[in-house]
Amino acid sequence: MAQLSDDCFAFGGPLLSVEAAEALIAERVPPVAGEEQVALAAALGRVLARDLRAPLPLPPFFNSAVDGYAFRHADLAAEGPTRLRLEGRVAAGQAAPSLPSGAAARIFTGAPMPPGADTVLMQEDAGQEPGAVLVPPGLRPGANARPAGEDVAQGAIALPAGRRLRAPEIGLAAALGCAALPVVPRIRVGVFSTGDELASPGSALGSAQTYDSNRFTLLALLARLPVEAIDLGILPDRAEASAAALRAAAGSHDLLLTSGGVSTGEEDHVRAAIEQGGRLVFWRLAVKPGRPAAMGVVGGTPVLGLPGNPVAAVVTFLHLARPLVLRLAGALPEPLPRFPARAEFRYRKKAGRREYVRVRLQPGGEMPVAEKFEREGAGLLTSLTESDAFAELPEDVTAVAPGDAVRVLPFAALF
Ligand code: AMP
Ligand code: MG
Repeated sequence: MAQLSDDCFAFGGPLLSVEAAEALIAERVPPVAGEEQVALAAALGRVLARDLRAPLPLPPFFNSAVDGYAFRHADLAAEGPTRLRLEGRVAAGQAAPSLPSGAAARIFTGAPMPPGADTVLMQEDAGQEPGAVLVPPGLRPGANARPAGEDVAQGAIALPAGRRLRAPEIGLAAALGCAALPVVPRIRVGVFSTGDELASPGSALGSAQTYDSNRFTLLALLARLPVEAIDLGILPDRAEASAAALRAAAGSHDLLLTSGGVSTGEEDHVRAAIEQGGRLVFWRLAVKPGRPAAMGVVGGTPVLGLPGNPVAAVVTFLHLARPLVLRLAGALPEPLPRFPARAEFRYRKKAGRREYVRVRLQPGGEMPVAEKFEREGAGLLTSLTESDAFAELPEDVTAVAPGDAVRVLPFAALF
């Protein structure tokens, strides 16, 4: 389990910038230790626990990159075409016969180069003669042949510790002959909702109640991370009960997430609950939506209090919970992908905080065009289902006008 000191996030300021919050996480959160072996088929999304050094070169042997004819480059005439007699044939998976000088061997993609041969002519470029092949001039030495180790040298670090295993990494590990990989054990992340107004989907909705959506959004966001996500239900709007629940969960989780109850209203009890259970650093984040976000440590376990409004919960999840999870899980940093777009909206904002505006993306000239989603409320769930990206307006920006370049975070890369 995570073991953080109570004051590990201590900082002095009233409002923390997103950048400073990310730096705190990177500098002060130690990864959870441990390692386990998993079969390649079960390794998707996991974090590699140790550097993977190549036990063999890739490709493992000198081979042809095309279907064609293999020969010694030195046998080619200095000028004009060269006629080489055809001797031998090697297909993928076969042992290559050695090549007499002045000859060419028929060869197929992936077949080992006959000892002596160093260059391959593509069959489409070959002139045919009975028992011979005509090689046109202009081929460079080594053309269309793949030396052993050109992709990965034997002994080189093919994948670094902390790398998350996606399809390409799993393919590379397989090519290196690994049937299983050492990965960091999944960290356990517990998710609470808070609020007396919340009902769980599937139960009857009382008057003045609303269905809990954040818990399910957060669990779904966590499903893309190397964690075991645990649904811990709904906490009442009472500090003592919430503190007891946090303390009870701390011992068996590496991270606790809550949503709601972190503003400064009288009915916002998460802050007090973290304070009662351990130590709170009220991270009022310089971000909109998402300003009320609390961070603390209860029983050595980090607790992140995300705001209740669904869009604010998502924004703060992406900027606090996601890097915190990756850090605890021993993963290398994975910055959120951002792309340039052309704003097709007008917007005013305060300096000193970062804002995330929901936009729809349309194909544009040299970059996509970002149209602002009509409505702005941080509680609008459809502002996420019916738009394509967040436009990220930096701290120093105070206005956006049509035609301005903006950076967007496409939902396709986030959700
Ligand atoms: P709070 O910060 O607790 O005052 O919550 C702000 C708003 O978000 C209120 O309208 C809450 O009803 C709403 N909210 C809080 N938690 C959730 C949740 N888990 N699912 C959906 N809405 C929520
Ligand atoms: Mg509430």
